[in-house]
Amino acid sequence: MSVLEWEPARLGRTVDHGEARKALNRARRGLGVVDYTLAKRALLREFRTGLLSRLEVCDAHPELLRAARYLGTRASRPCPMCEKEELRLLAYVYGDGMERDNGRAFDLQEGLTVAAEREGICYVVEVCTDCSWNHLSEAFRARTAG
Ligand SMILES: [Zn+2]
Repeated sequence: MSVLEWEPARLGRTVDHGEARKALNRARRGLGVVDYTLAKRALLREFRTGLLSRLEVCDAHPELLRAARYLGTRASRPCPMCEKEELRLLAYVYGDGMERDNGRAFDLQEGLTVAAEREGICYVVEVCTDCSWNHLSEAFRARTAG
């Protein structure tokens, strides 16, 4: 049996900026969180200093963009590349208990809930549907109850 420190059952189905932030904050309070902010900053720095082109950084696959449009939860901050409010958060869940749903895209709250229920890892990806910026944001791992 696995549990997360946060309580996915309490997450509402309504998705808005505040709900996304609350869901993530609740998840972050638990253990088993990997934050990819440093890697993201390094990438943005390489772009700003000319080491990487915009094409190399804003390279979201068409399938990823489509998933972000249909399933993505609007982020509470603008895109770090183009500054537009089109940044979406998307969840990909992996785990032994996922079977055919392994690696499937979910909306944020559903992904966090599914990862908790099926002992998986939920990767949160940020995708800009305007400029195609995309980066791993955070990963949440279900904890096994000891
Ligand atoms: Zn953008």
